[in-house]
Amino acid sequence: MARETRQLKIYGIVQGVGFRPTVARFAEMHGVSGSVCNYGPYVEIIATGESSSINALKKLLRESPPDRADIQRIDDISLAYREYDGFEIVESRGTSGEIFIPADIATCEDCRRELFDKNNRRYLHPFINCTQCGPRFTILENLPYDRERTTMKDFPMCDECSREYHDSTDRRYDAQPVCCPDCGPEVYIVGSDIKSGDAITHARKALADGKIVAIKGIGGFHLACDATNEAAVELLRERKNRPRKPFAVMMKDIEAAEDECEITPEQREMLMGHQKPIVLLKRKDDTSLADSVAPGNPRLGVMLPYTPLHMLLFDYPDGVNMPSALVMTSGNVSGAPICHTDDEALKEIGSFVDLILSHDRPIRTRADDTVMDFYRGKPYMIRRSRGFAPLPFKLGRTKDGNTLAVGGELKNTFCYRRRNMAYPSAFIGDLADIRSVEALKSSIDLVGRMLEIEKPEVVCDLHPGYHSTEVAEMLSESYGVKPVKIQHHYAHILSCMAENAFDGEVLGASFDGTGYGTDGTIWGGEILRCTCSSFERLGSIVPFKQVGGDSASKSGWRIAASLLASVYGSDRAAAIAEETGLCKASDVKLIAKMTEKGLNTAVSTSAGRLFDAVSALLGICKESSFEGEAATELQFAAERGLFEVALEKDQILPIIDTDGFAHLPTDSLFKTLVEGVLAHRPSDELAFEFHAALAAEIAEALKYASDKTGISTIALSGGVFQNTLLLELTHSRLERYGYNVLIHSLVPPNDGGLCLGQASFINKE
Ligand code: ZN
Ligand code: ZN
Ligand code: FE
Repeated sequence: MARETRQLKIYGIVQGVGFRPTVARFAEMHGVSGSVCNYGPYVEIIATGESSSINALKKLLRESPPDRADIQRIDDISLAYREYDGFEIVESRGTSGEIFIPADIATCEDCRRELFDKNNRRYLHPFINCTQCGPRFTILENLPYDRERTTMKDFPMCDECSREYHDSTDRRYDAQPVCCPDCGPEVYIVGSDIKSGDAITHARKALADGKIVAIKGIGGFHLACDATNEAAVELLRERKNRPRKPFAVMMKDIEAAEDECEITPEQREMLMGHQKPIVLLKRKDDTSLADSVAPGNPRLGVMLPYTPLHMLLFDYPDGVNMPSALVMTSGNVSGAPICHTDDEALKEIGSFVDLILSHDRPIRTRADDTVMDFYRGKPYMIRRSRGFAPLPFKLGRTKDGNTLAVGGELKNTFCYRRRNMAYPSAFIGDLADIRSVEALKSSIDLVGRMLEIEKPEVVCDLHPGYHSTEVAEMLSESYGVKPVKIQHHYAHILSCMAENAFDGEVLGASFDGTGYGTDGTIWGGEILRCTCSSFERLGSIVPFKQVGGDSASKSGWRIAASLLASVYGSDRAAAIAEETGLCKASDVKLIAKMTEKGLNTAVSTSAGRLFDAVSALLGICKESSFEGEAATELQFAAERGLFEVALEKDQILPIIDTDGFAHLPTDSLFKTLVEGVLAHRPSDELAFEFHAALAAEIAEALKYASDKTGISTIALSGGVFQNTLLLELTHSRLERYGYNVLIHSLVPPNDGGLCLGQASFINKE
């Protein structure tokens, strides 16, 4: 068999986890020569040997990686054949000055075993941790990562802990947050003398009794209640003023999760891994959970206990009979950052809860739970935070100087960039809430200090009204520079390019909620030609009139009414609205009049709003109680209606060429759906048809643009591509055309990923 040379790029948690020595050991076992090197977000292996030996090395890494490592992707690329003398560990080549800020790690199996071992000195200790696990980023005050620069500095180690900490053969060697019942923090019930084990029992009793308890975790407080108790969950909904948005659930263990949900092997691995995010799982039909946990939702956000305290809440020798599922939702007022101190918890969520279970290990930086979907067997990020932030990504291109990208307005995150390394932050929140703006500023300050970045170039969105733009202007003024403003949907495509370390030219389909366009109109269903430093708008969905500013994003029926009026004229539209039950005829007439006169009306190409309108038209969701509700319900309907809707080539509506600008015929698609509703076709079937037809239109528009430009790499981004049905339908069509398709995996396609795109922009001026 011929020898060959290959490059394996290994992505995931491969930093600071003893990865390279393991690679070297495996390579030697299989007679593979070459080298291994850290490149920040990935480890690069150059391997020369028999093809079968390199495959065996790859297999071994997948099957038995180092304990704390978590391989998420291996790129395998053939290189020109070259022989090497043996196998070498290269010290972080080309990565000098790169800074690695550790992320929080879920409690490991060894610590879990000790936690429940009566003979262990840390038996039932709610802060047990080791070199392999425990809080990191959230307790960090500065770098380098040593105890005196964490919030554990106020807890001097006892002699026994100190001995373990200094013993290189001990599994707590150099573990910064190491502690024990003698020297560590303590849990307590806020506003009482109840401490330690009694506090845990107290909280368990309250939960088992259907009460609502705030619980301090790693990156903030959770609001918790018994997920199997309908009255308790409804009470939480009422108090939190959150009528329908699904709650995440923490299950006692993987078996409990399997009782409720279908779990693929990849999802299982992620649920049980070192980051323990919330994973969106398919629910089983017979479930013991309260209906109000995720009303009408075929999926459930599930996580497993990731701190010792969580484990003790489910399991404690006090005779309390606990449920095996707890609602665990962020402890905040909607839109505000997650509460992270007792004072915040008392002030902001104190009135929602019967009890606050806290502890005296301070949280320095907030981190919400990460939320992850899966697509084609790989992670597909919805919210990147605890366990992942602020681990860096390596960009395709190096850039002089440092950059701070402040992100968008909703789901805000920010990102520092130093040369070719980008460090997206933990989730901040929606900046309409002033507390989120304050959290953004202080987190920018802290991470900037850790990364030793002073007076960076500041990048923000083009939108003049975003609070993030305001922050950018304020900061850049203090640095004596001018902010660089990047169009929203271009930043989404840049984000997808950045995650894939792609620095060439792409055609991007940026399908999203709303963003500020360069022409002052609202964009959001865009076909863009992009490089790292410029973009050109080649096409979009057919513009429509969006009435009613911000309230339009809540009321899909208003957009549906305006679309009806533009397609059929006011009188016929009014009749259709009555017939289909969309709204009153008078509402349609009023909206038609407003759009005619341009009153409180904007021209929009927002795909997100189109989804809202279709959802309303089909009678699925006319009014949203939270962002994205109408669109996700439309997706669920389509998934129920997923049967072969044949879209032969001649049935696809052709792209409209308007003086070289490509319009996706979304108005005709809307008309087809109206006729379907009038013909009483099932809404699930129409919902699926909408997805399939829109995917076809997106693919056709890209093909049109590709034929024109010769570009054959496509990037799919924007919040609408959180919809994995639309993604699959679009993706598979583009693959059939033979394009190289870039999609997100570990960076959210929604506005949570915007900061990475902004940070990867290269200013040519
Ligand atoms: Zn551990
Ligand atoms: Zn101790
Ligand atoms: Fe967006």
